[in-house]
Amino acid sequence: MKSLPDAAALLEQTLLARRDLLGDVRPNVSREALQRFTSVRTAPQAAAPATAPGRNADTLAAIQEEVRTCRLCEHLAASRTQTVFGVGNPQADLMFVGEAPGADEDRLGEPFVGRAGELLTKIIQAMGLSRDDVYIANVLKCRPDMPKGAPGNRPPTPQEMERCLPYLRRQIALIRPRVLVALGKTAMVGLVGADEPMGAMRGRWFSFEGIPLLPTYHPSYLLRNGAPAEKRKVWEDMLLVMEKLGLTISEKQRGFFRSAA
Ligand code: SF4
Repeated sequence: MKSLPDAAALLEQTLLARRDLLGDVRPNVSREALQRFTSVRTAPQAAAPATAPGRNADTLAAIQEEVRTCRLCEHLAASRTQTVFGVGNPQADLMFVGEAPGADEDRLGEPFVGRAGELLTKIIQAMGLSRDDVYIANVLKCRPDMPKGAPGNRPPTPQEMERCLPYLRRQIALIRPRVLVALGKTAMVGLVGADEPMGAMRGRWFSFEGIPLLPTYHPSYLLRNGAPAEKRKVWEDMLLVMEKLGLTISEKQRGFFRSAA
């Protein structure tokens, strides 16, 4: 079966041939009318999504706007105060990824701002960097909902993280950090599906979209278990990150918490 534009061309040819045969008898259909015939009935092309993953036109601002209005998890969209997109240097070499916003982040709209966030800031500063040098985000952009009146936070489910991961993927594709650090086991589950105890994963390099990924304990773990030996483990992981980034490491930095090892 011919397409509509082909059918119109055939009709025009037939009419022109009839005019040739009949001399003065002109076809009763103009070229403009034929064009209208084809254009009116040609289905419009479906518009491509403005910010589909991997498109050059993608921007952090565009993703952030999509996240702001996202309702893919209806229960989280209903319970959140606001979405928590990410913060820091959009051209950072180093990116930290946590699991999800907690109550403080949900209130303020920025990741890692509570006590755990303060500790993360101290860790970053001990590396000789500032929060403005790195980028910080979570796998999940909405706070996992809690029963009404219940205190604390809950970890996101694997299903929630899977649904939200495309946003983080696009953030990472734009920022293109040289090193990713996953803060906590849940972030590792969300990023690469690695469901092992953190004690077995930390200190080992993984890969996310070809980017070196190092897991380490979530700062909230250090708040619960602040033994110097545990702090030293996180610090050893940060030394690995600094080496990978080619950052200068002083003797003083190498020695942090060494007596606890
Ligand atoms: S958690 Fe992510 S996918 Fe779910 S509603 Fe929030 S932004 Fe959308």
